[in-house]
Order: sequence, then C-alpha cells, then structure tokens
Amino acid sequence: MTPDLQDKVILITGASRGIGRAVAIAAAKAGAEIIMTGRTMGALEDADDAIKAAGGKATIVELDMADYAAMPRLAAVIHGRWGRLDGLLANAAMLGPLTPLSHLDDKIWDSTISVNLTAQWHLIRAMEPLLIAAPAGRAVLVSSGVAEGIAPFWGPYAISKAGLEAMGRVWAGETERTNLRVNMINPGGTATGMRASAFPGENPESLPQPDDIAPAFLTLLSPDCTDHGKRFEARSMLGL
Ligand code: NAP
Repeated sequence: MTPDLQDKVILITGASRGIGRAVAIAAAKAGAEIIMTGRTMGALEDADDAIKAAGGKATIVELDMADYAAMPRLAAVIHGRWGRLDGLLANAAMLGPLTPLSHLDDKIWDSTISVNLTAQWHLIRAMEPLLIAAPAGRAVLVSSGVAEGIAPFWGPYAISKAGLEAMGRVWAGETERTNLRVNMINPGGTATGMRASAFPGENPESLPQPDDIAPAFLTLLSPDCTDHGKRFEARSMLGL
C-alpha cells in the first residue's frame, strides 16, 4: 500500500533525473509537497510539470551540491516558508570514471568526495533543525552496493558511499532521542543515466526502472517508518 504523505514537506536532492525524479513524482502523488533540487533547470521544470499534471505540488531549486553555502541558504528559505521539513532524501551523487586508485586524477577524487560525502554533511547540518521541528521527520541517505565489500575501480564513489553510511549511523546515534528517524537505502542496479555510465553494454530493460523502486523510498520517508540507523535494500523491500 502507498504510504500517506499528505501535506508532508519533502526535500529531494538530485530530483532532475533518475531515481530522485521518480521518487519526487511518486511522493507528490502520495500527497507530499516536494522541494526538488539539481543543477539542470530544464530537467527540474520537466519533473515539476509531471508533478503538477498529476495534481501535486512542487518547488524547484537550482542547487549544485558542491556549493556548500547553498545548504544553509536553502534551509533558511524552507524555515521561512514551512518552518519544518518532514522528509529529506539525500539522493544527488556523481559516479566519476571507474579507474584504479593509482590512476585517478586528483580533481575527480576531490569532486566525488565533495559531492557525495562532504556536501551530504553540509546538507545534514543545515536541515537537521528543520527535520527535528517536524512531528515525525524522516531522513533517507541513498547509498550503493559498492559501499560494502570489495569494489575495484569504483574508487572515490565506493569510498564516499561507505563514508555516507558511516555518517548516517553517527547521525542516527545522535538523534536517537528525537522524533527524527534516519536510514540508508541501496537502490540496487536501476535503469538510470548513472547506471548506463557504469555498465554501458547493459540492456536497461533488464533492470528495475526508477518508478519500480520508488515505493521503497516512500516507505522510509513515511511517518509510519520507525526504523532508525538501518541500511535497506530497495529490491528486497519490494520483493523485486
Ligand atoms: P542519475 O540518473 O545520474 O541522477 C543523479 C542526480 O543527481 C541528478 O538529478 C543530478 O542532477 C544530481 N546531481 C549529480 N551531481 C550533482 C551536483 N553536483 N549537484 C547537484 N545535483 C547533482 O543517478 P541515479 O542512478 O538516479 O542515482 C541516484 C542515487 O542512487 C545516487 O545517490 C546513486 O549513487 C544511487 N545509486 C544508483 C544506482 C543505480 O543503479 N542507478 C545504484 C546504486 C546507488 P543534475 O545533473 O541536474 O545536477
């Protein structure tokens, strides 16, 4: 059953494409008002049109995750307009080239760690007071299968996702006694642009589509979710 997200204010980073876009549309259809961020305004406007066409509400914000100062600015705007944040989906990430660590360009290392890890901390720091101000704030950090185990060539992407999971556990420990629940989710291989960059020869139709896995994200964003500090597999949650 689709969770009831009626009138919940949910911030989704990286909502211009792929998984973030699909979750934004699904959450809006479940009644949430979505704040969608990304760098590509045309794609955000397209997602906004899809939400409005389905009778939902959304606000689009052009935001580069590498612009750390944008996070407190966005938090101030959310505070002024809503006074709270019911949900945060920390989804935006970059893959970078799949290369041995010893061959990696330092700019790629820096930008991947910046967008996938350091920016997520800035986001958490800026949004925590708003999430705690909500009656049942829910935060979901989007991880990856390569955060665990041995992932040769996945370099800073795998390292940043392992760090993100550690950050989620630290944050969950710190917010144990609040109304905020923090969890991590691994989408599993999903037919998006990022997946196609990693596996160019793969048939995208052989994979779950972003719309197929979106319900797992809604479950973790719902006030009914009482789990805290856990890592979920979207496919297992949905029996895919
Ligand atoms: P995607 O299609 O490449 O979409 C990535 C999203 O992140 C886009 O909306 C992009 O928006 C945004 N983004 C990237 N860099 C950004 C930046 N510097 N500033 C702001 N926004 C930025 O990727 P996806 O497959 O949907 O991935 C979504 C999440 O799932 C990521 O955290 C990814 O690591 C994770 N994941 C995906 C898979 C998979 O198989 N697809 C598997 C495991 C984990 P703009 O380009 O408009 O900025």
